[in-house]
Amino acid sequence: MSDFTLTIAGEAAPTHATLDVINPATGKAFAACPDATRDQLETTIEAAWDAYQTWRLDLPARRAALTACAGALQAAAPEIGKVLTQEQGKPLDAAVNEVMGAAAWFQISAGLPLETEILQDDDAFRIELHRKPLGIVGAITPWNFPIVLASWKIAPALLAGNSLVLKPSPYTPLSSLKMGEVLRDTLPPGVFSVLSGGDELGKWICEHEAVRKISFTGSVATGKKIQETSAPTLKRVTLELGGNDPAIVLGDVDPKAVAEKVFKAAFANSGQVCVAVKRLYVDESIYGKVLSEVAELARTARVGDGFEAGVEYGPINNGPQFERVRELVDDAVDAGGKIEAGGGPLDRDGFFFAPTVVSGVAEGVRLVDEEQFGPALPVMPFRDVEDALERANATHFGLGGSIWTSDVERGTELARRLECGTGWVNQHLNLVPNAPFGGSKWSGIGYENGPWGLAAFTEYQVVNIAKG
Ligand code: NAD
Repeated sequence: MSDFTLTIAGEAAPTHATLDVINPATGKAFAACPDATRDQLETTIEAAWDAYQTWRLDLPARRAALTACAGALQAAAPEIGKVLTQEQGKPLDAAVNEVMGAAAWFQISAGLPLETEILQDDDAFRIELHRKPLGIVGAITPWNFPIVLASWKIAPALLAGNSLVLKPSPYTPLSSLKMGEVLRDTLPPGVFSVLSGGDELGKWICEHEAVRKISFTGSVATGKKIQETSAPTLKRVTLELGGNDPAIVLGDVDPKAVAEKVFKAAFANSGQVCVAVKRLYVDESIYGKVLSEVAELARTARVGDGFEAGVEYGPINNGPQFERVRELVDDAVDAGGKIEAGGGPLDRDGFFFAPTVVSGVAEGVRLVDEEQFGPALPVMPFRDVEDALERANATHFGLGGSIWTSDVERGTELARRLECGTGWVNQHLNLVPNAPFGGSKWSGIGYENGPWGLAAFTEYQVVNIAKG
């Protein structure tokens, strides 16, 4: 049995089978999560369908319910945050902030515009444009920011009048189950369900005929599978996938100040951020200075158990990811790369990897070409910014990218030439609720957040009335 429960039809549902959940700071199982069965998915979907029939009818009630969810999440942030640190590894303050961020997203989503528009109203015709929900939404989430990324799906999907079934990653299911427990009393039964289980459960959701939309955040490889599994039932899909974000630092900046900002953008959440800086290109005139600053920051970063006071960076979340980062760093060294800081696991239990900075590598080396999704950053010089742009864009990925310069106008022009969903100038990582977030190329299909994200959970219906 697990201490955490599935939320099905607004109630705790028992399970017999469980999956171990590992604390990445120890490498050992500390809890178990329910492993939902296919029958339980059926029951969940029946309840979600029933709930949808009335939930879809009353927009003001939905706005009020989302505001209530925001309050409930705020109140539960310390409790959910603690579970999040245990299963994900991030420092406790970051975990609590993540839950508070989700609460803010519910609050902001509650006020998004969704009213009917009148496109034409004259002697001949009245044409109304209605926004309709899709039905049941399946939300499938990754392990790096399980709560806030789920909120980007739950809040707009529910506002639009859909019901939603959330399936968190098997590496971080507990905080989402907790969120289900917290919101159970706030939302009508069946409107929001949480099922934990393995990857197979995600596949069942994608295959299910009654599910009309999949909103997925995760890797490119899984995104491709999801699109395939969702095709026979012609589901709408939103895919928020991986990235390999370049940051291009021009020669006109203060190397120390920029190194500090870029370091944080690369190593936040121990590099496990879809829009972390994953490749750093630096003008050769300041390359040495930026490289040594970034390496020094890596050497002095406080890495440890997320529950220890003052820890800035936690472990890598799971064993396979830990092995992958190690493999990419070893491969970079084999390819002639030089370790400027870190270079391997820390000598302690758990999935701790020293913040690592690598020089002497370029395109063609896996650490540069692939998404490392961990605390290892390649730093590369460039002579001509046109060349840097070409290298930055020569990838299937297209999530984010940034330009660092004291000439903001030039930076803006260069950022516009990055082939990605978000181009930043003198910052990176900053995602806001009032702009669409999504990837170009293989980094995704569709957008989340703001009216653009809400639109992805609705369809239009035109009602065209002849007069006279
Ligand atoms: P993942 O693709 O391995 O898993 C994500 C989710 O998909 C999990 O819940 C998993 O159980 C489920 N899943 C796996 N196989 C499935 C299948 N065949 N059908 C249905 N569901 C399936 O990703 P991850 O390792 O959890 O997360 C890391 C990846 O997520 C990185 O590539 C990262 O860049 C990306 N990411 C993207 C964004 C974004 O907004 N673009 C945000 C965070 C993370």
